[in-house]
Amino acid sequence: KAKQHGRNSCRFYNKAMADAVLERAQLENQLRLAITRNELRLVYQPQYDLQSKQIVGVEALLRWHNDILGTVPPDKMIPVAEESGLILPIGLWVLNEATRQARVWLDKGLNVGRVAINIAGPQLYSGHLVQQVTCALAEYKLQTKHIALEVTETFIMQQSESSIEQLRVLYAMGIEIAIDDFGTGYSSLSHLKRLPVNKLKIDKSFISDIPGDKDDVAIAKTIVALSKSLGLTVIAEGVETPAQADFLADEGCHEAQGYLFSKAVPSSGIEQLLAEQQSAALLQS
Ligand code: C2E
Ligand code: MG
Ligand code: MG
Ligand code: MG
Repeated sequence: KAKQHGRNSCRFYNKAMADAVLERAQLENQLRLAITRNELRLVYQPQYDLQSKQIVGVEALLRWHNDILGTVPPDKMIPVAEESGLILPIGLWVLNEATRQARVWLDKGLNVGRVAINIAGPQLYSGHLVQQVTCALAEYKLQTKHIALEVTETFIMQQSESSIEQLRVLYAMGIEIAIDDFGTGYSSLSHLKRLPVNKLKIDKSFISDIPGDKDDVAIAKTIVALSKSLGLTVIAEGVETPAQADFLADEGCHEAQGYLFSKAVPSSGIEQLLAEQQSAALLQS
């Protein structure tokens, strides 16, 4: 399918580079159509209280399946969405879909706790997020305690006062604001203290090698201690082993999520986990 290159073709022509450009363009073109073609889905990963071992929230994670490209992982899709501006309609779709699902669970009498929604930088500096969140809550008759927003540390540290102002309004409304991937973004402590946030989420890169790696142990301990001294909730992501969960619980880390408990599952999977949790509680009482 690739054209034959004659003698005059550029000597510096690099096939791998050209392929990457084409692939990027195709990804963007397909992504542009993903919403109208109904190709996006949300899956949910439960978040557990480390003391009670109960589900206290679920994180909504985006999944995209496309006929041509197959299943495209978020780490590949989100950067393209951010660079192309497509993250704005996609982010709005995620917000509406996650809040719609929160209402479905409430109507079924299921308590999943907060539905945590990942927010990309451009959504905050678009200036529309406060209004979009307010509309979604009204549309599905939700209270602010039914959702949480996750914003990455890298983004929050780079952002302008007006983006922080959007966060401040959401925080003042009573919506839980978490700093995602915490520890990877070099926050200054003085800045952190002034941010409108309730929760720090320890990045999974610091969790994977505990309790064996003493540097990561030191970092995890420090983030837990920092959260407590600032009066923030702290959650660990990427918890895969009982040893990691025990270590975190001993340190006083409040919450955790990860493959040890459950991977991200469709909404029906969350309902099943809640049912199992409830029957276990009944057996104990
Ligand atoms: P994140 O928000 O930090 O989400 C955590 C990622 O870690 C998820 O990957 C999750 O599936 C994965 N994970 C959870 N438990 C474990 C574990 O025990 N071990 C390991 N190795 N991984 C675990 P996923 O779903 O591929 O998402 C990757 C990233 O894409 C997310 O990182 C988030 O930054 C972004 N993303 C996903 N959905 C959305 C969305 O709706 N909006 C925005 N803006 N970003 C999203
Ligand atoms: Mg997240
Ligand atoms: Mg995270
Ligand atoms: Mg992460």
